[in-house]
Amino acid sequence: MNAVPLNKNQHALTKDRVVTILGATGSIGQSTVDLVRRSSGKFRVEALTAHSNVGELAKLARELNVKFAAVADEKCYADLKDALAGSGIEAGAGESALVEAALRPANWVMAAMSGAAGLKPAMAAAGRGVVVALANKECLVCAGEVFMRHAAANGATVLPVDSEHNALFQAMGAGRREDLVRVILTASGGPFRSATLAQIENATVEQALKHPNWSMGRKITIDSATMFNKALEIIEAYHLFELRADQIDVLVHPQSIIHGLVEFSDRSVVAQMGAPDMRTPIAHCLAWPERIDGPANRLDLAQIGQLTFEAPDPVRFPALRLVQEALVAGGAVPTILNAANEVAVAAFLDRKIGFGGIPLLVEATMSAMARQGNNKAPASADEALNIDYNARNVAATLAPQLALKAS
Ligand code: NDP
Repeated sequence: MNAVPLNKNQHALTKDRVVTILGATGSIGQSTVDLVRRSSGKFRVEALTAHSNVGELAKLARELNVKFAAVADEKCYADLKDALAGSGIEAGAGESALVEAALRPANWVMAAMSGAAGLKPAMAAAGRGVVVALANKECLVCAGEVFMRHAAANGATVLPVDSEHNALFQAMGAGRREDLVRVILTASGGPFRSATLAQIENATVEQALKHPNWSMGRKITIDSATMFNKALEIIEAYHLFELRADQIDVLVHPQSIIHGLVEFSDRSVVAQMGAPDMRTPIAHCLAWPERIDGPANRLDLAQIGQLTFEAPDPVRFPALRLVQEALVAGGAVPTILNAANEVAVAAFLDRKIGFGGIPLLVEATMSAMARQGNNKAPASADEALNIDYNARNVAATLAPQLALKAS
């Protein structure tokens, strides 16, 4: 039932690849476009989507000569239509247009919208039985069982874009699934790896947005600083690879060269390495099961000199404790954790709560929702989005009550 292909090469090769990029204007979307651009016409692009960045979306749509471009924000429809006038490119807006983009006849869909808003379009793409390159981890955290079941039932191939999961996917090819003992997700530790608890709790938006190794969108950059990114990735790995929670470990590795490791029963540990550049895992997914030339810097280990490792610290980074609680509780709790975290990150970026308030708000929301007593796991995307909606409301109500100090 696992829709992540392990050592199976059942899908069309790159020469037949028609691509749709959901979240084309974002960090992952732009990296995907960069690879398409460099591929000298190997990939045709069918559709692109964005939230509201009409200018960039229209520019990309024209450059790549796509058939359909859609924005989530309905207020942007007229602007998008104007920006595409005379190009022959169809414009769409709203949630249904994003789903339509996912339903267009591409056989490779990049799901790179940020947040739980990515769930329905990703489900639509998976429902067509195509290759879904999944960057949007929130959709697995919010509705992991629903999404993976849907993908498997429709014959979709889910390829992990997240560098750690892509690394695990590649390393898993070294052995049989039944011989796998555990996986290790590496974490850079983010900008506050060596900071004290007090420094972390009082960190500013500017400090939190300064990731030492990766250049990413704002939400995931804050998630890296709180280590909620790693928490979400644990749940992502749990669903993608059908692992038990006790088979997923986290290792802090500040250089971000080793992205993931897989331990097999004979105690062999297989790692995947590469310079920290998302175009490498994206290229792996774009060409899979072939390989294409990647533009990232070649790895020069002699120049790097040292790779170091540390145990993660769940005291300074409560996200690592909260994710274990969410996995043990199961049911709706991972969905609640994700929703509360999205609200908390947005509130932090709006300077309404402090950095230390992010895990506090997530924990308070988890507790408040637990007291309401409904912990049923979502059985559909709509149920997941309903839990997500309720959890967001609870988090939004709790944020001011916690009297968090803006930094
Ligand atoms: P960005 O914020 O850079 O881009 C997000 C994209 O999604 C943009 O195209 C944005 O459009 C669009 N978008 C945002 N909100 C909505 C919405 N409500 N409805 C529809 N479209 C929306 O994010 P990233 O590229 O950094 O991340 C995308 C996903 O990939 C996330 O789930 C993240 O966790 C995951 N990921 C990212 C990595 C990275 O290195 N960046 C690494 C691994 C995973 P607009 O530009 O108009 O706002």
